[in-house]
Amino acid sequence: MTLFDSHAHYTDGAFGSEEERDALITRLSEQGVKYILNAGTNPVSSLQGLALADRHPGLFASVGIHPGDLEELSDPETAFRQIKELAKREKAVAIGEIGLDYHYRTDNKEKQAYWFSRQLELAGELGLPVIIHDREAHGDCLKTVFSFPEVKGVFHSFSGSRETAAELLRKGWYLSFSGVITFKNAPRLAEVVPTVPDDRLLIETDCPYLTPHPFRGKRNDSGYLFYTAEKAAELRGCDAETLARLTLANAARLFSKTGIVV
Ligand SMILES: [Zn+2]
Repeated sequence: MTLFDSHAHYTDGAFGSEEERDALITRLSEQGVKYILNAGTNPVSSLQGLALADRHPGLFASVGIHPGDLEELSDPETAFRQIKELAKREKAVAIGEIGLDYHYRTDNKEKQAYWFSRQLELAGELGLPVIIHDREAHGDCLKTVFSFPEVKGVFHSFSGSRETAAELLRKGWYLSFSGVITFKNAPRLAEVVPTVPDDRLLIETDCPYLTPHPFRGKRNDSGYLFYTAEKAAELRGCDAETLARLTLANAARLFSKTGIVV
């Protein structure tokens, strides 16, 4: 089985030293997680993700400013210019993660909206797909992405309703599911999984976060993606092998700059 983890954060401190990270990614690749997309959240983590990608043939990076990182930037305009330059690098295959997060704060909605739109515009300019972070902001996220009809991408760790999913799918978007679909307290999300067409489904870990059941609380890594693949397969009434094959093909199609041929 060959898996593509469409969303991971291997630049996170939870993964230890550079040597430890490199050893882990090499081991995961040998175990079948051949492809990983490392998501950037600001210029520093985006650059670190690209450095990691340069050392691992199966690892690719997205570059972008996460809504939760905005307030830590001394100058968002400079950060945006840095992202724009990084996006031109060979292994930068998407803009992200970008979006809106109303879970942590709602007092800077306008600022979040402004930089979300600027980065969607950038993706359109560069012809790159986007990776959307949407936390408790479904309505505003959909309105914003639909105002850039030339831009397409994936809603990562999708957490919306069936209706939200249907609307995104109608407009050509992909949905990525994380270990949350294995959680006992997320039955409504599990119901969305079988409604996604075969050619729009992705899976991810969002590691080091969101470790699948029954490992919740442990540090997540792409090795746990097998549990999410199995759960998604069970919900869709297919086998894990089939699910792995179609999600890999979808990731290769969406992130075409990877050059992966399946
Ligand atoms: Zn993430």
